[in-house]
Amino acid sequence: MNDKPRIAVYPGSFDPLHNGHREIIRRARPAFDELVVAVLHNEEKRVLFDAEERVVMIREVLDRDGLTDVKVTSFSGLLVDFMGQIGGCAVVRGLRAVSDFEYEFQMALMNRRLDPRFETFFLATSEQYSFLSSRLVKEVYSLGGDLTGLVPRPILARLEARLRPSATE
Ligand code: ADP
Repeated sequence: MNDKPRIAVYPGSFDPLHNGHREIIRRARPAFDELVVAVLHNEEKRVLFDAEERVVMIREVLDRDGLTDVKVTSFSGLLVDFMGQIGGCAVVRGLRAVSDFEYEFQMALMNRRLDPRFETFFLATSEQYSFLSSRLVKEVYSLGGDLTGLVPRPILARLEARLRPSATE
């Protein structure tokens, strides 16, 4: 028996985290010894919240959810290199719809080609969040839409400060 802890990584942009992501974290946690949420820091990508802010926001939400043993960190570069650094054995990804599948499948096969030591595990979204994406969250919020029930409260507060600063003055 190999008693090395089974560490899984849930990587993503999480710009910002929403309830679809939160649900994947909640369901993935018991399947592994450790779960690390890894925020991708990509200089090339325009983001609303920088990687450090995203880490702080996710930490706050997970602490409120009682998921204090889920680690949150950021990484840049190749996921396989990050996996090697932390001794991860599995990547967790969420699947919303057929439209996610092609990209996710491609990434999983590329990652396996780059480093065959770890596997990608897909979790199907919960139906109530199947339409939810970070892009849509930002778009709807900036146009005045109500995202209660779709985005955790601490994230809503940050969105308000960032996208509707006059409302908080
Ligand atoms: P990306 O990693 O492509 O920048 P995200 O940060 O938005 O995308 O998402 C990270 C992971 O969470 C991806 O595997 C994505 O498919 C998954 N995900 C995003 N939204 C949902 C949702 N509503 N339900 C389940 N999984 C989701």
